Amino acid sequence: MTFKAEYIWIDGTEPTAKLRSKTKIMDGAPSGDVADLPIWGFDGSSTNQAEGHASDRVLKPVFTCPDPIRGGADVLVLCEVFNIDMTPHESNTRAALRPVAEQFAGQTPIFGIEQEYTFFDGHRPLGFPEGGFPAAQGGYYCGVGADEIFGRQIVEKHLDNCLAAGLGISGINAEVMPGQWEFQVGPLSPLEVSDQLWVARWLLYRTAEDFNVSATLDPKPVKGDWNGAGAHTNFSTQAMREGYDAIITACESLGEGSKPMDHVKNYGAGIDDRLTGLHETAPWNEYSYGVSDRGASVRIPWQVEQDRKGYIEDRRPNANVDPYVVTRLIVDTCCTALEKADQV
Ligand code: ADP
Ligand code: MN
Ligand code: MN
Ligand code: MN
Repeated sequence: MTFKAEYIWIDGTEPTAKLRSKTKIMDGAPSGDVADLPIWGFDGSSTNQAEGHASDRVLKPVFTCPDPIRGGADVLVLCEVFNIDMTPHESNTRAALRPVAEQFAGQTPIFGIEQEYTFFDGHRPLGFPEGGFPAAQGGYYCGVGADEIFGRQIVEKHLDNCLAAGLGISGINAEVMPGQWEFQVGPLSPLEVSDQLWVARWLLYRTAEDFNVSATLDPKPVKGDWNGAGAHTNFSTQAMREGYDAIITACESLGEGSKPMDHVKNYGAGIDDRLTGLHETAPWNEYSYGVSDRGASVRIPWQVEQDRKGYIEDRRPNANVDPYVVTRLIVDTCCTALEKADQV
């Protein structure tokens, strides 16, 4: 017996990396344990990860799940990219998250990431009429009906595929601009949420491919008076889930010194186009936090203030953010501050 293993990796495209994948035919049956999957190689000169004269790069499996596209015993295999001396390739941002996640594992940080995205039919967002614009924003968010909703069949198929793969999807909704949607992954640990978000992104592109539709994480797919696409990042530690002081410590730590800029410049290419202060965003160069405030950088949900415990939402990350980077920065900044304040 054989099975198909779809090896997926993150490439070196700049400024925003792309997903790549190729298929390996394997003998036997998958064990379900990622450690049983072999390393593999690829041509890094075709993915902006090597020069042609020394082009070999290594794929090391780090996460596996059932392949809902092919079904049967077939699997998806998410990989980290290494150089042939087995040092992490410079595009490998997961390698930098590993030690930080381990250092602060005692605080049990968890994340729920809201992935917004936009479907495109050729050069137009799905639902935009040829050579013009649809009715202004207002009725599309969480809408229903053929005049407001574009691509639901694909969205439902993607959701089913994510569930069949066993990913920790927690919901979906239609967004503010026609053709724009969201799914949420989590709450899960930093590495889990990031691995599963990358696989959910791959499944999004792959599912839409069968409908001849493309999906993009472009943070501002239509200029002008149309909402951008973000990746709101919800975060808590054990102490935050137990008390409000830790919630405030986390919010304050994100505003200290150079932290706002350290974070924002790593929250996805083109962030200044999206974080304008309009369309439910805070200006990219001014840090703020507030209860229920969708115009703040970081929002404390109203029920969190009510319950005096829970989580915070960093609203700044772009849809095209690298989850390995945003979770590393938030864990590093907030967990360091919580440790200093003895709120662990
Ligand atoms: P919004 O109201 O901002 O649209 P969503 O419901 O889309 O919020 O997303 C909220 C996300 O926060 C979900 O992925 C959810 O699983 C996650 N979440 C809930 N509780 C926590 C928590 N304690 N820590 C981290 N994330 C959480
Ligand atoms: Mn949401
Ligand atoms: Mn949203
Ligand atoms: Mn949100």
